[in-house]
Amino acid sequence: MGAPPFLTPEQRARALAKAKESRKARASLKLRVKNQELSIADVIRLSSEDEVIAKMRVLELVESIPGVGKIRAKAILERLQISLTRRIMGLGRHQIEALTKEFTIPKATQRGKLLVLSGPGGVGKSTVAKALRSSSALHVSVSATTRKPRFNEVEGIDYHFLSPEEFEEAVARNEFLEWAEFAGNRYGTPRRAVEDALDAGESVLLEIEISGARQVKEKMPDAILIFLEPPTWEELVSRLEGRGTDSPERRAARLSLAQEEMAAASFFDKVLINEEVEKVVASLIELASV
Ligand code: 5GP
Repeated sequence: MGAPPFLTPEQRARALAKAKESRKARASLKLRVKNQELSIADVIRLSSEDEVIAKMRVLELVESIPGVGKIRAKAILERLQISLTRRIMGLGRHQIEALTKEFTIPKATQRGKLLVLSGPGGVGKSTVAKALRSSSALHVSVSATTRKPRFNEVEGIDYHFLSPEEFEEAVARNEFLEWAEFAGNRYGTPRRAVEDALDAGESVLLEIEISGARQVKEKMPDAILIFLEPPTWEELVSRLEGRGTDSPERRAARLSLAQEEMAAASFFDKVLINEEVEKVVASLIELASV
């Protein structure tokens, strides 16, 4: 370095005043970065028009980002191969890209909504769920059950059919979001598939009995609980009676259970009357999207 330039007292005073101004401008810029009024990308943009910003050290800028601090700022610059003495105006294109990317928070995917469709057995929940499944408007959860498949049911589509031992093991591994015993069999919602779909922003429908719905609400208070009611009690009885797939004892058990279940509507967020499957499906799609 050569000898310092000779400055007249006036020149010296001017230089000092300029330095003071620059310090003030840098401090105010850092404060705005700290308060998240300006992002790294904003500062880099401003540097093309403002000499003070352009001459600021990148390290100083990064240190002022909330939650970064001196030690992390150094580590970040070293990782991004940016010299600790580099000034903003000296940043290369790739370095600008790397820095901007480092501090851009990815826009979080909005989590999907969890809809729980419940109601008395025989009300038509599974018909609604089936219609929704084929519409692909919602992710319809596939439950696990220890019940034997009915003649028209397909493994992995209607249910995951498990042995009592397999079900027990899944309970022990905490794999169910909820599970319940219903008319002598066990039914459970596999947690993982539901969480994955919600995380991916998809809305999910669970078609489950009432005690399971209650468990879901306790664990996930944002879940929307929908109670599906038959248009009339007589209609429900005739549906249960007409179910050719169940034995007479099972039908009788379901009927008495349905009576108890009808009384449970009060803790649900919404009641839909199953007059027409298409209308229920449309209301559910609407609920999932608002
Ligand atoms: P089904 O044997 O007629 O298919 O179903 C009997 C009952 O079990 C229905 O009320 C159905 O909604 C309910 N169910 C189906 N899957 C599940 C589940 O994963 N958890 C709970 N709690 N109930 C379920």
